[in-house]
Amino acid sequence: MQQLKDRILKEAAVASGHVLKVDSFLNHQMDVALFYEIGKEFHRLFKQDGITKIVTVEASGIGIACLAALFFKVPVVFAKKQKTANLVEDVYTTSVSSFTHGKLYDIVISKEFLNPEDRILLIDDFLANGCALNGLRDLVEQAEATLVGAGIVIEKGFQGGGDQLRAEGMRIESLAVIEKMDKDGIVISGE
Ligand code: 5GP
Repeated sequence: MQQLKDRILKEAAVASGHVLKVDSFLNHQMDVALFYEIGKEFHRLFKQDGITKIVTVEASGIGIACLAALFFKVPVVFAKKQKTANLVEDVYTTSVSSFTHGKLYDIVISKEFLNPEDRILLIDDFLANGCALNGLRDLVEQAEATLVGAGIVIEKGFQGGGDQLRAEGMRIESLAVIEKMDKDGIVISGE
């Protein structure tokens, strides 16, 4: 998606530990007009797939998922992060290792909001090692719902999470794939 790639090249900063900072339009200040275009693009890519629900994880995925949901006309369910899962009988839960904070946390979704009839599109802001998507897939599988695929805004291709999940059969559509990033700059696939 050219508009997104242009914004990354213009505004992103490379922080230590392979973290791309895009706080000016995605992770702190949010450019909702850009989110609208991102949502439209995810809809173009997945509109034939009978999506009934969009699933994301708090916090940065929520805004993007909401704009996409306007196009799909389906609800958004966001997995909540918590240190330890309580009320385990009422929720699906799994453990995820945080890329940006380097620690383990649980994500939970109430059983009431995921059903075996659901056809799920996962949406997230970043794909790095694939732990977040792996955890969300686990919740969808626990609910015996159908995982259609994942829409990712920025994939850091050099970290390999996307390759691994694709090899396992997950359909992943990333709107910008970073091939390389360091103090000398950022290289985006197709640029
Ligand atoms: P993964 O679980 O694939 O290793 O990492 C994905 C999650 O970590 C995303 O939900 C995102 O919140 C966060 N993340 C991973 N890499 C980056 C990055 O370079 N920049 C930012 N802002 N978040 C990232």
